[in-house]
Amino acid sequence: MIGARPAVTVPLTQAQGLVLADDVVAELALPVFDNSAMDGYAVRAEETEGATPDRPVVLPVAEDIPAGRTDQLTLRPGTAHRIMTGAPMPTGATGVVPVENTDGGVDSVAIRARAEPGKHVRRAGEDVAPGTTVLRKGQVVTPAVLGLAAALGLPGLPVIPRQRVLVISTGTELVTPGTPLQPGQIYESNSIMLAGAVREAGADVIAVATAEDDVAQFSSILDKHAADADLIITSGGVSAGAYEVVKDAFGRDGDQGVEFVKVAMQPGMPQGIGRVAGTTIVTLPGNPVSALVSFEVFIRPALRTAMGLPDPHRPHRPAVLAESLTSPKGKRQFRRAILDTAHGSVLSYGPPASHHLRWLASANGLLDIPEDVVEVSAGTELQVWDLS
Ligand code: AMP
Ligand code: MG
Repeated sequence: MIGARPAVTVPLTQAQGLVLADDVVAELALPVFDNSAMDGYAVRAEETEGATPDRPVVLPVAEDIPAGRTDQLTLRPGTAHRIMTGAPMPTGATGVVPVENTDGGVDSVAIRARAEPGKHVRRAGEDVAPGTTVLRKGQVVTPAVLGLAAALGLPGLPVIPRQRVLVISTGTELVTPGTPLQPGQIYESNSIMLAGAVREAGADVIAVATAEDDVAQFSSILDKHAADADLIITSGGVSAGAYEVVKDAFGRDGDQGVEFVKVAMQPGMPQGIGRVAGTTIVTLPGNPVSALVSFEVFIRPALRTAMGLPDPHRPHRPAVLAESLTSPKGKRQFRRAILDTAHGSVLSYGPPASHHLRWLASANGLLDIPEDVVEVSAGTELQVWDLS
């Protein structure tokens, strides 16, 4: 239905949650240079042989090396350098005595325990050797991936871009929240809800608009934005009445690129799919619960698949129904549900009708009742879509 957009390299700040379009090969070593793992003193380890609290080895401190010092120093025999965590090891030093094992001296230092060669030194390349493939195509960009990329000095990462989605609500009765309602009007709620669902799925919303039940108005929104989108989602105007603006805009017989169908599910029976100006359009029913459940069933998996995300589907969990329910014959029913994952049980939540948005707002699951089931008794195991 919708395909992946061509890979692009985006700045790290825009890459989180996207999927890598390519392997990433390190050009830099990590650590970048040998550096101290402790605040302490860089020494030639053999010169601290025999040091104890009673008989410390005392060495003059020839240099002070804070993190960020850029000149390459050499440790002359018979001296120590005070060194901080992350500061470059001087040439010739073979170990670090942590400050806790010394008197913390500035001009000279009393060392109370011997340094073990190589201990408390982080070697260049021990984490990443140059040429190593550190990230694989198909991996999701997580905070740790961003951290690694930045540590390697990469300003951006090659990713599969977000799908760009246009969301259109339809209905002459709809009024934007914040404006007074006239008799017969209701607040427009689908566009903010569906735009939120688009973003939650990982995609971008390029525009949100509401059209009255007026074909010219609806078409002018499409003319303005359709070509910039990978997917258009409309809600409303696809059922069986008069003034069905989406159906009227495309013709009801499917010859203008959009086919209107009845899907054997509840909620969400009237649906449409097609192409407008080369862009895929999915026309959802207007009832808010139908619109969001249809998004979950049809659109979210498609968007996530097109973005290469490894988990396009919500997790489905088996759970034991803690009540008895009936379900319409011949329709796959999605009931709002409260899923108790700890006990593996589930309860329906609120009535099945498709305008009861309140219950969906506090549900954490969708109970998936197969179309051939008309009665389910308490104790039956059912699949639940985990929305949490
Ligand atoms: P329709 O599919 O256009 O017949 O709409 C079905 C029901 O959903 C009607 O009660 C509409 O008022 C309502 N509805 C449609 N679109 C929206 C919307 N964007 N926000 C809130 N309710 C809507
Ligand atoms: Mg309508």
